[in-house]
Amino acid sequence: MAEVLVLVDHVDGTPKKVSYELLTLARELGTPSAVVLGAGASAAAEKVAAYGAEKVYTCEAEELDAHLVGPKATVLAELVSSTSPAAVLLPSNAEGKEIAARLAVKTGSGLITDAVGLTADLTAEQPIFGGSVVVQSKVATGTPIITVRANSTAPSESPGAGTVEPVTATFSDADKAARIVEKVVEDKGGRPDLGDASVVVSGGRGVGAAEGFGVIEQLADALGAAVGASRAATDAGWYPHQHQVGQTGRTVSPQLYIAAGISGAIQHRAGMQTSKTIVAINKDPEAPIFELADFGLVGDLFTVVPQLTDEVGKRKG
Ligand SMILES: Cc1cc2nc3c(=O)[nH]c(=O)nc-3n(C[C@H](O)[C@H](O)[C@H](O)COP(=O)(O)OP(=O)(O)OC[C@H]3O[C@@H](n4cnc5c(N)ncnc54)[C@H](O)[C@@H]3O)c2cc1C
Repeated sequence: MAEVLVLVDHVDGTPKKVSYELLTLARELGTPSAVVLGAGASAAAEKVAAYGAEKVYTCEAEELDAHLVGPKATVLAELVSSTSPAAVLLPSNAEGKEIAARLAVKTGSGLITDAVGLTADLTAEQPIFGGSVVVQSKVATGTPIITVRANSTAPSESPGAGTVEPVTATFSDADKAARIVEKVVEDKGGRPDLGDASVVVSGGRGVGAAEGFGVIEQLADALGAAVGASRAATDAGWYPHQHQVGQTGRTVSPQLYIAAGISGAIQHRAGMQTSKTIVAINKDPEAPIFELADFGLVGDLFTVVPQLTDEVGKRKG
C-alpha cells in the first residue's frame, strides 16, 4: 500500500491529539508515515509509532522554527516528490491550512480543507458555505492534500515500526522571508485548546455579564472541556476574543458542544455545527439553536448549568 504522509502537530516532540487522529485515519487509507518537523522532532518517534506510523520522517533544521510556514511546506514538498504518497493529511488549524495551500501550489496538486470524514478512496466529507452545505469532494489532480478537522476520528493505538528517517531540505530566500521574533504561549488555565477539545461549553449574550461566565467555566472544568463564546459575548468584552466560535472566530468540531444562552445565529453555527452532539440551553423555546440541537433544555441557564455541573460531579464520584 502507498504511504500516506501525516504532518504531526507537536510541541517539542509531544504530539497533539489531532496528530494521533490523523494517523488513525491514515491507517484506513494506506501505510501511515509521520512527518515531524522542528525542534524535538525525534522525541516524537515512539509516540507516533504507537498510533501506526511505519516510518517517521524527521527534520530539525533551525529554519523550521525560526521562520513561518515556508520551510515546513518545502520539506513536505520534497517528501512528496521522493515518496509519491497516496495522500498528505494535515491538521485543519490555521498553520496546517497554510502549509497545505503552499504544498498544493508547490506540487501542482488539488487541496481539500476542513474535511470531517474520509473514505478509503479518499473521498472527503467537507462542510462548505459556512457549514450550511456538506459536500463529498475528491482531489482530481496530483497528490491529494487534505486538512482534517480535529475530532473527526477517535484516535486508537496500533503499533507501527516507527523507523526514523531524518530528512534534509534546501530552503529558498522566499521560504525565509518572514522571521519569528517572539513566541508567547497562551495561558489556558489548564483547559484544553478550543480547536482540539473533545467537549466545548460555550456561553453567549444570555450569560448577561463577564461574571456570568463563571457558571460556564465551572461546567467546562467538570467536563474537562474548553470554553467557547459567541461573538455577542466577546464583543461585549465578557470573554476573550480568542474563544469566539463562529464564522469570524474558531471552528470547532468536538464530540459534545454545549451552547448556553446562545440564539444560534448562522454565523455562530458556521463554527460549531459539525459537532457530533449538540446540547442547547436557552430560555426561549423558539431560539433557532434548537433546530440544530440533538438535546434541548428550555430554561434559565443560571438554574440549569449549575445543576448539570453538580450532576457531572456526582457521577465522577
Ligand atoms: C459578518 C458577521 C460575522 C459574525 N461572526 C460571528 C461569529 O464568528 N460568532 C458568533 O457567535 N457570532 C458572529 N456574528 C454575530 C451573530 O450574527 C450573532 O449576533 C451572535 O452570534 C449572537 O450571539 P448570541 O447568540 O450570544 O446572542 P443573542 O442572539 O442575543 O442570543 C442570546 C440568547 O440567549 C438567550 N438567553 C438570554 N438569557 C438567558 C438565560 N438566562 N438563560 C438561558 N438563555 C438565555 C436568549 O433567549 C437568546 O436566544 C457575526 C455577525 C456578522 C454580521
